[in-house]
Amino acid sequence: MDISYIINEYAEERDDYFRAIAPPIVQTSNFAFKTVDDLRKSFEDEYSTWLYSRGLNPTVEILRKKLAALDGAEDCLVFNSGAAAIFAAVLANVKSGDHIVCVRGVYAWARKMFEVILPRFNVTHTYIDGTSIENFAAATQPNTTLYYLESPNSWTYELQDLKAVAQLAKQHNIITICDNSFCTPIYQRPCEYGIDLSLQSATKYIGGHSDVIAGVLSGSRAMMQRIFNSEYLNIGSGIQPFNAWLLIRGLRTLPARLDRITQTTWKVIDYLKQQPLVEKVIFPFDESFPQYTLAKQQMQGGCGLLTFVIKADDAETIELFCNTLKHILMAVSWGGHESLIIPGCSARPKDAFNKNDTSHRMLRLYTGLEEPAYIINDLDRAFEAIKK
Ligand SMILES: *Cc1c(COP(=O)(O)O)cnc(C)c1O
Repeated sequence: MDISYIINEYAEERDDYFRAIAPPIVQTSNFAFKTVDDLRKSFEDEYSTWLYSRGLNPTVEILRKKLAALDGAEDCLVFNSGAAAIFAAVLANVKSGDHIVCVRGVYAWARKMFEVILPRFNVTHTYIDGTSIENFAAATQPNTTLYYLESPNSWTYELQDLKAVAQLAKQHNIITICDNSFCTPIYQRPCEYGIDLSLQSATKYIGGHSDVIAGVLSGSRAMMQRIFNSEYLNIGSGIQPFNAWLLIRGLRTLPARLDRITQTTWKVIDYLKQQPLVEKVIFPFDESFPQYTLAKQQMQGGCGLLTFVIKADDAETIELFCNTLKHILMAVSWGGHESLIIPGCSARPKDAFNKNDTSHRMLRLYTGLEEPAYIINDLDRAFEAIKK
């Protein structure tokens, strides 16, 4: 299906609502039935009826159909956060005694689930370097039921060869989940490589305006139905109609925003590479990136996240750099209109700083929708401030 069609028309039954261009926000908790028989049918199969908005809702339905189509998947569920999508996807596919192989560097709340919650239910995990397929084979145990991937991750951007991992998993009856937040389905569709479940934080690029928290989980119709009837309804973390409406609105401009952000990112990278105080720039589509070839093969774009390593002898220099920025905001998340930065050293105590460890000198930058010169001038001012 054509991306423009999905975003602008698909799943919008405008005849049902006055031919309005923007769909209605069906802000209702419940739906009324005309006959007992209709109600009975709904109880029997909530996944195909309007019963209660913890389950299906017409505004959410428009969004679900569009997002599944963008992912090249049969179906999808939209959650009240990316974290909820991760939780439901994993919980639905493990039982006591199972083992998960997870790539290193995945989103912090996925790790917390593996490290804090799942061990209480006797589900174990092994972290591996996912850049090599051999490491998956080596870590797979007889009780491994899940491979958890994130390609690329959101700090150092290591990739997994999605097609190869999906193939290996199928040989062992292992379910694969891939966090696709970095790319969005515009730039990478894991299900098309054979990955069972693709998820993303819609808080980032889909929402695109830093005003809504949401998550998407896509896969086969059978898997989505199973998760809907259990984890989705039980955890009660489905997206609310107004937030779904905001995401539909975000989708309208998604490709245009990604385009613009990508162009700006390259300008910022060019600037950073000629800046003497920058030791290294990490970005999957940069030729210096170790998995550059794989990135070009399985992703259509990279967009706004990049990491650079600054030359600094102490944490104070990095702090001065960040504190000097006037327009690039210091905040978590990304994918909105505004450029953002996070220094790696903010996640550890000041006295733990070790200048010989490059990860301590990393700064993650997200380039937003501002004019490129506005972002670059801000960076330039901060570099001036730390020049000796
Ligand atoms: C933000 C993020 C999530 C979690 O999404 P929320 O919408 O914040 O719950 C998951 N994975 C990645 C890679 C993220 O960046």
